[in-house]
Amino acid sequence: MASTGGGRSLSAFALRALPRTRFSGEDEGMKTPFAAEDPRPHLLDLQPAELRQWLSQVGQPSFRCTQILSWVMQRRVASFADMSDLPKKLREQLEAHFRLWTTSLAAHQKSEDGTEKLLLQLADGGRIECVLLREEGRRSICVSSQVGCAMGCVFCASGLDGVLRNLTTGEIIEQMLLLARQLEPQERLSHIVVMGMGEPLANIDALLPALEMASRADGLGISPRRITISTVGLPPAMRKLTERNTRYRLAVSLHAPNDELRSELVPVNRSIGLQAILAEADAYFAASGRQLTFEYVLLADINDRAEHAHQLANLLVRREALLNVIPYNPVAGLPYRTPSAANQRTFREILESRGVRVKFRHRKGDAIDAACGQLRRSNRTGVGGP
Ligand code: SF4
Repeated sequence: MASTGGGRSLSAFALRALPRTRFSGEDEGMKTPFAAEDPRPHLLDLQPAELRQWLSQVGQPSFRCTQILSWVMQRRVASFADMSDLPKKLREQLEAHFRLWTTSLAAHQKSEDGTEKLLLQLADGGRIECVLLREEGRRSICVSSQVGCAMGCVFCASGLDGVLRNLTTGEIIEQMLLLARQLEPQERLSHIVVMGMGEPLANIDALLPALEMASRADGLGISPRRITISTVGLPPAMRKLTERNTRYRLAVSLHAPNDELRSELVPVNRSIGLQAILAEADAYFAASGRQLTFEYVLLADINDRAEHAHQLANLLVRREALLNVIPYNPVAGLPYRTPSAANQRTFREILESRGVRVKFRHRKGDAIDAACGQLRRSNRTGVGGP
């Protein structure tokens, strides 16, 4: 289901190290850089404390951790060999024990509105998407958390084939770094949204260390209030966010104003129910103080009627929340349609008249399959991705 700081201080060296592809709708024969059976973990799967522990085991002082992270997170070098202020022996040890970049670029699309979408091939052949969005003063990136998705939302391309696996912490951070590389020198990454392929809270244990790294001053320096986790609503994981005192924004995808319809559109709802989700969302708001966002994909003749708007207002009117309504972006092979302009207007007017704070958001990058999962489906090559 999509931050400032971290000025992009890309050196000419780093730019040279990771060549840019401006547009490619097709595979360009780029090889996966590491064999699937490569046993070395992604360096960024380690949290800083774990990296310091490893450094201590190989007889290195802990300040090397800061140097290494700076090379990866700020300068985004291509290889351990490029970390020129580290002793040669340590660079060789790093190379022997860890992988640095584990994805290859399968496709890169750029829309006229400035939206860029990367289709990345993982070391095991799975494919994921991530997006850079340019809007007025914002430069937002949207990253994936899983290969595919198990939630089964009926209107979504990402969930059509189920879930293959969770992404690792390193794979999530790598998407952020690759998207940040697409920014021009005068642009600054400002927001991160975990709204790509997958249900983020189904992979919370890998996700939270990735977001921690994104928000560290020596990581990407994005304030937690500019990082949004988007979820269909998994109460136990939502409770974990509350208990861990995280300060990220939470966006809950409702898509329907009652359990009967929601269980049709978001099948995982059958075993959960709206009230349990809203109770956990309220608890998160109470603990974090972060205003909640609710998402609602508006589908013609399915959830766009006046009665739905009134039911939605009943759910939200007493909550400190923003409702994002997203008129559906059709997906090839799926029967759902965009609601008419008149229906959109009526839906909005009812919500506003009931005192709900509502924003209509139109997907950017329509010309490049920007809705989640579409690029992956239109670039199947039989290399192992679902
Ligand atoms: S909309 Fe989000 S949660 Fe639903 S199937 Fe698609 S990726 Fe999964």
